[in-house]
Amino acid sequence: MTQEKKRGLIPVIECWEEIPCNPCKDACPFGAIRIEGEMTNLPIFEEALCKSCKKCVFICPGQAIYMLDEDYTESEGRILFPYEFRPLPEKDAMATGLNRQGQPVCPVKILEVDLKTSYKMTPLVTIAVPKEHLKEVRFIQLPGGEG
Ligand code: SF4
Ligand code: SF4
Repeated sequence: MTQEKKRGLIPVIECWEEIPCNPCKDACPFGAIRIEGEMTNLPIFEEALCKSCKKCVFICPGQAIYMLDEDYTESEGRILFPYEFRPLPEKDAMATGLNRQGQPVCPVKILEVDLKTSYKMTPLVTIAVPKEHLKEVRFIQLPGGEG
């Protein structure tokens, strides 16, 4: 029996404003993001070309791109996003997952704080999120702190 390979983290582009901007397209080494016609048109993502290199995530000046893995474990997915606040979260710590309106959704676990691929001192944080809340959670709040 063949087992389908897990896809892993793939970008989700939440870029809704038609502004003259295209660093995500230029940053992608594999042509997985294109902007057709005018520079103000919205970016188009082609998953089949994406190698999950994360460049588009940290290059976007509007933090409009995050990455989503729907099958991290049986019960959890992962999301990865740029994190500009200080102090930084700590690996394996718990935090509160926030939705796009900044409201608390559920507890989440910090899986990784990636400073290696950072751009302009903005690390990439990866968290585990219960699958039932995976499409809601977009950011985190640390215990007793900002986020
Ligand atoms: S993760 Fe890398 S390969 Fe995928 S769209 Fe972004 S820049 Fe391109
Ligand atoms: S870099 Fe970010 S804000 Fe600019 S077009 Fe790409 S996704 Fe939108």
